Amino acid sequence: MKSYFRSEVDAMEGYVPGEQPKIENLCKLNTNENAFPPSPRLQRVLAQFDWERLRRYPDPQADALRDRIAREFGVERANVIAGNGSDDILTMVFRCFTSPELPVACLYPTYSLYPVLAEMQGANVIEIPLTGENFALPDDLPEQGKGANLLIITRPNAPTGNSFPLEAMREICRKFDGVVLFDEAYADFADDNCMGLVKEFDNVIVSRTFSKSYSLAGLRLGFAVGNKTLIEGMFKVKDSYNLDRMTQELGLAAFDDQQYRKECGDKIRATRKQFTSDLESLGFQVVPSQTNFVFAAPPDKDGERCFRELRDRAILVRYFKGPATGTFVRITIGTPEEMARVTTALREIYE
Ligand SMILES: *Cc1c(COP(=O)(O)O)cnc(C)c1O
Repeated sequence: MKSYFRSEVDAMEGYVPGEQPKIENLCKLNTNENAFPPSPRLQRVLAQFDWERLRRYPDPQADALRDRIAREFGVERANVIAGNGSDDILTMVFRCFTSPELPVACLYPTYSLYPVLAEMQGANVIEIPLTGENFALPDDLPEQGKGANLLIITRPNAPTGNSFPLEAMREICRKFDGVVLFDEAYADFADDNCMGLVKEFDNVIVSRTFSKSYSLAGLRLGFAVGNKTLIEGMFKVKDSYNLDRMTQELGLAAFDDQQYRKECGDKIRATRKQFTSDLESLGFQVVPSQTNFVFAAPPDKDGERCFRELRDRAILVRYFKGPATGTFVRITIGTPEEMARVTTALREIYE
């Protein structure tokens, strides 16, 4: 059959999400979901939700939610936009700032959705390779990114889990002639973040998600904070009613419960520390993590084998084939009990 598709769509492969399989007793550590349930406040919001109001369209601007987020970060409502997951935020950013004439620069390895979004825009991708065994930023990053209109720094990075020095981020914002997007999907598990740079620079956008630190991957909610002019432009390209009524109300309740979010984050960081030292005692090389996952190379440097052996034991982790990533597996930090099960399995495999 003749193809009716745009050539960009014909040429692209599409994003491949981590599996969501239905295996019994599965230890699911492959897509960085939170080990804990969402804030208990959400149960009450759901129970009291007036179902008749679903007849009406939701607030297209999500003002109540944006006000609450703005208050948290000391900015104004006009500095904030919300999306149907931070993937929706990324879509808006690509629609606004990339085209066949306007390339995007991002790190390598990093979140594999960016090149897919670039292909849809017909935009070229400049990949900036991270260096050394701990995936550090190259010193000449601004030079390598030259010519791009959008630079995405995933901080902390995925799938590598490490972060980059904050002072280097400030230097990049100063030097890069284009929009700098900090994808901070994991910032709530890190020691610091780039939210402060939004007030220092006109060309900075910071994106966050409710999927990881708020335990709400199933809800689909994310947001971005940035200069008013940039945010205003993003509103022009977003889907008209991108956030449904329930998501706006549940998201507000979850965001309001910062203390619960912090408590869960602290527990995950403590488990991460323990699990990292367990992995190291088994001879794994572990990239220092600032996220709710670790990127680790098994003693034989065969990431695929590690993935397979764990899968045979109903433990699902993520493996990314390729020269820079194939010697590693990415393991989400679950509960202490889940991580103990992983450690036991790895001991069986490698000792
Ligand atoms: C999980 C993740 C996202 C997407 O989050 P959603 O809000 O679930 O769409 C964005 N960026 C990175 C780096 C992620 O790991």
